[in-house]
Amino acid sequence: MLAEVLNQIGRRTRFVLTSHARPDGDAIGSVLACSQILRSMGKQADVVLFDGVPQVYRPLPFADSVVQTSRIPEQYEAAVILECDSIQRTRLEGLDRHYLINIDHHSSARPFADVNWIDPHACATAEMIFRLAREAGVKLSPEIATCLYTAVLTDTGSFGYAGTSERTFVLAQELVRIGADPVAIAQNVYFSNPTAKMRLLGAALNNLHRDGALAWMYVTRADMERTGALEEHSEGLVNYALAIEGVEVALFFREMSDHRYRVSLRSKGAVNVAVIAEKFGGGGHECASGCSLDGPLSVATERVLAELRRHQNVQ
Ligand code: 5GP
Repeated sequence: MLAEVLNQIGRRTRFVLTSHARPDGDAIGSVLACSQILRSMGKQADVVLFDGVPQVYRPLPFADSVVQTSRIPEQYEAAVILECDSIQRTRLEGLDRHYLINIDHHSSARPFADVNWIDPHACATAEMIFRLAREAGVKLSPEIATCLYTAVLTDTGSFGYAGTSERTFVLAQELVRIGADPVAIAQNVYFSNPTAKMRLLGAALNNLHRDGALAWMYVTRADMERTGALEEHSEGLVNYALAIEGVEVALFFREMSDHRYRVSLRSKGAVNVAVIAEKFGGGGHECASGCSLDGPLSVATERVLAELRRHQNVQ
């Protein structure tokens, strides 16, 4: 399928690239790297995102070239959509008018586009973008390697999630050899938190609950306002609940402005949380997934916990 992606890219010149709303490290790193790779191939490659680049990823090369909008600004010959199981997940309007190229590594990925390259064995979409560059004969710059390394680092949970393999380290080694600086990248991603994010973590830990192999926590709108935290500051907080000994699955609920709740699900491996998230219209990976539910909080929590309690590995 990579050959078909390259074939379709080769036939066109003007591309728009995008990824999902509330982009994470793999979405940002992969879309920035892919745009530069296409430019090296002589293409126009504009990056458009519904939510823009989260603060933590703004030091990345090319991050200031991203256009934040709710509508694709002009007619391109094709749209490259990374990390999404549907057009809707981008939240952008106007994509349906384009030839669509879908590149994704989620286990819940779907073939919604004109050409679909899906590889759930890739540790991150960045691994697929690396392969695309190699296959296209594009020489990677240190800046592109920095974007790809950031994506791999964050999407593997610092080389710790299921799916991390010898291949992941070979990829990381190659990216460092090209010029990614693992120390500077880790400092930017993990040791540059805004104070508001740490205060939000405090609020979440205050709302921590545990029942056997399940742990869950939540933050309300009031918590967000009191701490001054942004939506993007909730990324990764769920891992603190998963870090508890004996916990197999952790949940993080964030109240949104419409009284619905965003849920992050994480598993140590015994439970496939992508299947649980899909039951509520979301998706993701076996060990990391997300979905949204209607409130009130007690009902949303009980619905997800009830699904999980059916699973023999958490009883
Ligand atoms: P997070 O909990 O960090 O928001 O998301 C964890 C993983 O699940 C990420 O790979 C993300 O792309 C995926 N994910 C989160 N929410 C959704 C959703 O609503 N739909 C789908 N298909 N995937 C999601």
